[in-house]
Amino acid sequence: MADLVVIGGGQSGLAAALAATAHGIRPIVLERSTALGGAWRHYWDSLTLFSPARYAGLADRPMTGDPDRYPHRDEIVAYLDGVAAGLTADVRTDWPVDWVRRAGSGRGFVVGGAAGEIRAHRIVSATGRYGRPRHPERTGLDGFTGRVVHTADYRGPADLRGARVVIIGAANSAVQIGAELSRDARVTLASRRPIRWARQRPLGRDMHWWLDRTGLDRAPIGPLLAGRTTPVLDDGRWRAAFRPDRLDRRPLPLRVGTGARGDRVLWQDGSTERVDVIVLATGYHPDVGYLADTGALTADGQPQQRHGVSTTVPGLGYVGLELQRTVASATLRGVSRDADFVIRRLLRQN
Ligand code: FAD
Repeated sequence: MADLVVIGGGQSGLAAALAATAHGIRPIVLERSTALGGAWRHYWDSLTLFSPARYAGLADRPMTGDPDRYPHRDEIVAYLDGVAAGLTADVRTDWPVDWVRRAGSGRGFVVGGAAGEIRAHRIVSATGRYGRPRHPERTGLDGFTGRVVHTADYRGPADLRGARVVIIGAANSAVQIGAELSRDARVTLASRRPIRWARQRPLGRDMHWWLDRTGLDRAPIGPLLAGRTTPVLDDGRWRAAFRPDRLDRRPLPLRVGTGARGDRVLWQDGSTERVDVIVLATGYHPDVGYLADTGALTADGQPQQRHGVSTTVPGLGYVGLELQRTVASATLRGVSRDADFVIRRLLRQN
C-alpha cells in the first residue's frame, strides 16, 4: 500500500512529489508519457514565460541565470528535466492511469491501467489540462470546411503563411499566436468580449513583482475569480501588432461555414468572407476522467474540491487546477505553494 500516488508528472506532479518528500513521504509518480515535465514540450516554438525566471522555480529549486529574464519554453523543459532527475520518488513512466476506485474497505484507493494496479492511501491528481482541449460548440464550426486547429496543436507559422486566419479567443494564447501569424497572414481575433489588457511592467516593475510584494499572489482568492476574462499581459509589443490590414479583433462571427461553400464566415456587420483556417484559442478542460468512478466529479466532469482538496472523497487532492486556491495556482510560480497546502491537508485527514 503506497502512502501517496501522484498521477501526472508535469510541473504540478513534480511540485506534489517535492512537497510529499519534504513531509517525509516517498510518493509513486505515475506518468503516461515516456518522460516527466508535462505539456511544456508541446507548446509552440516561440513561447516564452509570461513571468520572470525568479518566480518560476518549483519549491526550493530556483532557476539559474538572470532572474529577470522571461525564459523560453525550452529552458522550462530543461529546468523541469533537472527537477525530475533529482526527485526522490518512485517514478513510473509509460504508466497511463485509466481508472481510480475507492478500496473496498472504504479507506484508500486502487489506481489502475494497462500497466497494472496500485493500492494507495492517498492520491494527488496532477494531470493538467493539455489532454482535453476545449472545442466550443457555440461558434457553429460544424459546417466549416476549412482547416480547424486548436492551439494545443499549433507549433509555429510555417504552414499558415498567406492564409486568412480567424482565431477564436482573446486571451494570452490568442494574442501571441495572432501577432506571430500576422507577420505573414491576415488575422482576426474573434471573441465574445474585448481583449482585457494588463500592463506587464506597471511603474517600472514586472506585474509579478507587484503580485508578490502585495501578497496578492498568495491570497486564497482564486475560486472567487473563476469565470473572469484572463488579462493579456503586454509590455507594448502585443498591442503594437494590431494593425487594420494585418491583425484586428471583432465580435464572434454570427455564423461559420455559411453560404454555398462552407469556408465562409458571416460577421456581425453582415459581411461574409472566405477563411482558410480557424484557430481555437479556447483553452482546456481539466483532464480527470479517470476519477469518474470515485464520486469525486460533478455530473459534467469537474472536480468537486476546495483549495485543491476533494470535498467528496477523503484522501484525494488536486494540484494544477486553474484558480484552485490563488491567482497563481496552475502556474510555475504558485503550484508549489498549492502542492504543500494539499499534501498537508491530506496528511491531516488520516
Ligand atoms: P501538464 O503539463 O499538462 O502535465 C500533466 C501530466 O500528466 C502530463 O505529463 C501528462 O502526460 C500526464 N497525464 C495526463 N493524464 C494522465 C493519466 N491518465 N495517467 C498518467 N499521466 C497522465 N504557466 C506559467 O507559470 N507561466 C507561463 O508563462 C505559462 N504559459 C502557458 C502557456 C500556454 C500556451 C499554456 C497552455 C499554459 C501556460 N502556463 C504557464 C500554464 C501552466 O504552467 C502549464 O500549462 C503547465 O504545463 C501545466 O502543468 P501541469 O503539470 O499542471 O500539467
